[in-house]
Amino acid sequence: MAIEKQPSCEDDNEPELLPVEIALERIAAQIAPLTAADGEQVPLRESLGRVVAQPIRSPINVPAYTNSAMDGYAINSLDIPASGEVSLTVVGTAWAGRPLESGLARGEAARIMTGGMMPEGSDTVAIQEHVEPVFSGDTIISVRIDASTQSGRNVRQAGEDIKTGDVIVESGELISPAHVGLIASLGIDKVDVFRKLKVAFFSTGDELRALETYAGKTLDHGEIFDSNRHTLFAMLHRLDVELIDLGVVPDTADDTRRALMEAAAVADVIISSGGVSAGQADFVSKTLAEIGEVTFWKLAMRPGRPLACGRIGAAHFFGLPGNPVAVMVTFYEFVQPAIKRMMGCNVTEPQRFTVSSAVKIRKVPGRIEYQRGILERENGQLVVRTTGKQGAGRLTSMCLANCLIVLPVECDGIAPGDPVEVQPFHALM
Ligand code: AMP
Ligand code: MG
Repeated sequence: MAIEKQPSCEDDNEPELLPVEIALERIAAQIAPLTAADGEQVPLRESLGRVVAQPIRSPINVPAYTNSAMDGYAINSLDIPASGEVSLTVVGTAWAGRPLESGLARGEAARIMTGGMMPEGSDTVAIQEHVEPVFSGDTIISVRIDASTQSGRNVRQAGEDIKTGDVIVESGELISPAHVGLIASLGIDKVDVFRKLKVAFFSTGDELRALETYAGKTLDHGEIFDSNRHTLFAMLHRLDVELIDLGVVPDTADDTRRALMEAAAVADVIISSGGVSAGQADFVSKTLAEIGEVTFWKLAMRPGRPLACGRIGAAHFFGLPGNPVAVMVTFYEFVQPAIKRMMGCNVTEPQRFTVSSAVKIRKVPGRIEYQRGILERENGQLVVRTTGKQGAGRLTSMCLANCLIVLPVECDGIAPGDPVEVQPFHALM
């Protein structure tokens, strides 16, 4: 009698597989971002990587005063001759940081340096290359300008970049080094940001041995070092969240329940890895059903078919697959955007672009595939190739890669030269 085969992750076309876009929509619908009440004020430098909770308005004009964009001579445009040349008396110098307080009368000019404040009575800078100074000894006593001098040129007007009261950073923006500089340029040294999210995470699996106890030791047959918890730590660290490491949890209902309850009491988000594949789903799902609302999804993606998602108390729960590469791919595709949304961050679509594949890539229709790719320049063109074998346990493939090659559900393979979509790591990690 033939064996009656059950659906498995070997199948490419399982009818009940959930498309990735639907999973993303369902997760987004569950997420409640932090509110303004979750704000705190931090010193400017500590705001790097945090999310702005209140729009930042400029208390000043930028530039704060009208100044010269070039080294030259500040003049009154009414003194520019209609034809020929005129000679203007040089009455002093306006340095950057040392204005010429006396101002100009008609027929006068002042030497001015880039950034120097425009003296009262001037509105134009004639650049030094376009004028002819007249010396008395070492001193420039006058300057000759001609009719080609353009009225109003080479002057930066007060407030032309930013006006007092303008919003310069919207709430929901993640503070970057450029923001830090911009905020400093306005004389602001404190920023209202959302509080840090608290994220608890643990690994599940009887085979796992924690580095905390076993680093450098020889393991028994069937045991492996727990790596997922360290990968999760590293990925979460980049998001600047508060981390609660709950260690390795054995594959029992009691231990799982205890870990989840402990996590739910303190965390906004709980992330586990392992124990959500068909083999163990029953006991995990039973435990989860007792203490929260969690659904198990079989996703139409590779790697990372199983994913659990829902709530335990007030905390959001993500049960990631156990395979190390699947942990990373599901984290970046599902968990990271959800955490960013919760952090109050304006989340945009993942940055992807199309390049040509330098190699043939095998793929059958039915699931979206995230292959590890190396994006490089070849004869002036950006091309991508895979890192080689794509097993979900091979973390080396993630280390070699600098992007994911995203092959859509319906794709049935790629020939050399075909366009493919890539998601670069630099925008992700
Ligand atoms: P599971 O989803 O629990 O069946 O795990 C799938 C595969 O991932 C198995 O080969 C596990 O041994 C491996 N795995 C699960 N958790 C971890 C972990 N924390 N570190 C390294 N490998 C893991
Ligand atoms: Mg397991």
